[in-house]
Order: sequence, then structure tokens, then C-alpha cells
Amino acid sequence: MSDCLFCKISAKKIPAKLVYEDNEVVAFDDINPQAPVHVLIVPKKHISTSLDITDEDNALIGRLFRAAGKIAEERGVAQRGFRLLMNTNAEAGQSVYHIHLHLLGGRQMHWPPG
Ligand code: AMP
Ligand code: ZN
Repeated sequence: MSDCLFCKISAKKIPAKLVYEDNEVVAFDDINPQAPVHVLIVPKKHISTSLDITDEDNALIGRLFRAAGKIAEERGVAQRGFRLLMNTNAEAGQSVYHIHLHLLGGRQMHWPPG
């Protein structure tokens, strides 16, 4: 989508601190980190919300989680523990309508989340 922030970042039209890339996935540091490690893992394909994922995307969603695991290992939080989450729609606080997994780590996480 031409006016989508994360489409622009994955197309390198807007800079970001990339930490991972393959044919279908890109990951970059969150601009407003909520933990020592806060990375966004994003499919290059535009999908607006988790509700818009279809069977066609099953393998792609798996790749998001595989990329997240690799990044967690690289950042040294895999064994300590980390959180993966995807906000969906307004009450969850979704602000960018192109799906992304948040990878949060490097500090104690709390439950329930705010
Ligand atoms: P959400 O609120 O779940 O949709 O998450 C959107 C995330 O994108 C927030 O954590 C923002 O800090 C982050 N964000 C917004 N703009 C940028 C950007 N240009 N580069 C990196 N992260 C961004
Ligand atoms: Zn997009």
C-alpha cells in the first residue's frame, strides 16, 4: 500500500534500523522502545490486521515467528525470556495498520499487560 509506513520501511523508502531481512520478512528496532530489546517483525506483504490473515499467509506467519526466534537468540534474550505480541485494532492500541510482531525483552515482563 502506497501510504503505509511499514510498506515504505520494507521497501527502503523510509529508513529504519534493520536487524533482519529475508525475501518475505523485515525486522527493525522500534522507534519508541518499551524494553531494552524492542524489535518489530513485519511481513513485506501488506496485511492490515491479524483479522486479515488468510490461509494463503500461513507459511508467512510461521516465518515471522522463526525470524523472531533468531533475533531473540542474536540479542541474547532467547533463554532469559521475551514476549511476542501483535496488537489488533483500537482497544489493543494498534497504531500502524500493517501487521507486526513486537519482540520485547531484556527486562522482566509483567502480567497482565497494561
Ligand atoms: P502498534 O501500536 O502495535 O501498531 O505498534 C506500532 C509500533 O511502531 C509502535 O511501537 C511505534 O513506536 C512503532 N513505530 C512507529 N513509527 C516507526 C518508525 N518510523 N520506525 C520504527 N518504529 C516505528
Ligand atoms: Zn503496509
